[in-house]
Amino acid sequence: MNQDFVKRARQLAEWIKEKDDFAVIYNYDADGISAGAIICKSLERLGKTYSTKPLKQLYKEEIEKLKAEFPDARNFIFDDFGSGQKQELKEIFAKWNSGEKNAEQPGKNLVNPDKKNPKLGYIIIDHHQPTKEQFELELNPLLFGVDGGNEISAAGTSFLVARELGVKNADLASLAIVGACGDVQDSQGKLIGTNAEILEIGEQAGVVKKEMDLRLYGRMTRPLVQFLQFSSSPIIPNLTANEQNCIKFLSDLGIPLKNNEHWRSYDDLLPDEKKKLSSALIVHLHSFNVPEWKLRDLIGEVYTLSNERKGTALRDAKEFGTLLNACGRHKMAEIGLKVCMGDKGENMLMASSLLLEHRRQLSEGIRLMQEEGLREFNGFYFFDSGEKIKDSIIGIVAGMLYGSGTILPTKPIIALSRVDEQYSKASGRATKDLVLKGLNLGKIFKEMQNDFGQGTEGGGHAIAAGIKFPTELKDYFLEELGERIKKQIG
Ligand code: C5P
Repeated sequence: MNQDFVKRARQLAEWIKEKDDFAVIYNYDADGISAGAIICKSLERLGKTYSTKPLKQLYKEEIEKLKAEFPDARNFIFDDFGSGQKQELKEIFAKWNSGEKNAEQPGKNLVNPDKKNPKLGYIIIDHHQPTKEQFELELNPLLFGVDGGNEISAAGTSFLVARELGVKNADLASLAIVGACGDVQDSQGKLIGTNAEILEIGEQAGVVKKEMDLRLYGRMTRPLVQFLQFSSSPIIPNLTANEQNCIKFLSDLGIPLKNNEHWRSYDDLLPDEKKKLSSALIVHLHSFNVPEWKLRDLIGEVYTLSNERKGTALRDAKEFGTLLNACGRHKMAEIGLKVCMGDKGENMLMASSLLLEHRRQLSEGIRLMQEEGLREFNGFYFFDSGEKIKDSIIGIVAGMLYGSGTILPTKPIIALSRVDEQYSKASGRATKDLVLKGLNLGKIFKEMQNDFGQGTEGGGHAIAAGIKFPTELKDYFLEELGERIKKQIG
């Protein structure tokens, strides 16, 4: 592990240990929720008090509201965003603290020494493209030459802080793996870099188990037929979207679909049955000349959360991640946070029904893009969904088009969704190969934020990024984007 990175994590941990009365402000996606849960669980174990709030993005107007929203909080932890908003944070906290100074009343008899200091403090834990300003209490892998796009996510970065807190937190490694998978950091079929090291810590703690296996989505919860029928990454010719063929495929292999009255999932299969099914799928894909890069999606590392109940989405890191995305992207991130922190009652039921709705909206979005067709510019694919696909899921849908084979991995995709009367949100997705060639969508959107001025907020990762901008600038946006992509990858 990069020692400077760990040292900075220790510095943030020291800051946390000295303080109390926290507000944990976290990103509403799967990685942000896992990250927030890691921090909240650690605070709980330290006996600290805290409140929480999920946000879609750390827009300036959101930061400005925080002081009034959390009148009892003295210390803010921004998790899975903040590195792109350092200037805004600095200005707003300075403004708040200059006001505090005038009203300073040193409480001589206060029990908590921190309360003598009325100043509000904050730290940033993030893995998105950071802006240039220096800030001592910022932990971001990109500042230490560690790739925040596929070597560690915000959940992993939060885990590094949790590990330095002096309480036993190794079990939280499983949430770090959920966050990494939720952010699709396993897209090369395995976790690499710091993620792989965190995985090892989780394995040693007995909370997560790594195996080489089929990577189709739903190995824990989907009945076998649906497991094949709904496969979109990769699309399996003749099987995806064809229930009858899936039933025949499985019965030709002699794999029973039911165990008494229970529909068997892939996880229920015996080791021999699993091997038989995987080999048959590989032969099947070869017989349809499916390109090698899509075959790579089929087999790879899968991660089982050993302490979670069999047959639930929480047992598989990827399914867990989707469940969290379902909560966050449908305005219920707090439910996801509670599930991560161990609440398996009503919150889990709610999360499961959000998951069904999320999956429905994703397939609806994919269907819409496939039916209406994408425009192909020189440097990228483009789709304007208007109001038909929510801005909170448009990026996920766009990313799924690669796996489904609708678009080639040779160009990035940009998809648009109307936010309100004035603004649109563009989500960009790319592939690992494009990033290796030099594409960095997060950087492009961050730069465009400055050029477009007031009301534009953009950023993210090289491989996945977003930007909100005035809809009337759409044509200019597309032209400018094309130029910038060309500059990066020709
Ligand atoms: O919203 P979407 O899923 O397209 O976002 C992709 C990535 O870009 C996410 O990690 C998100 O946090 C980041 N992003 C950002 N600034 C924005 C919009 C998105 O940093 N204004």
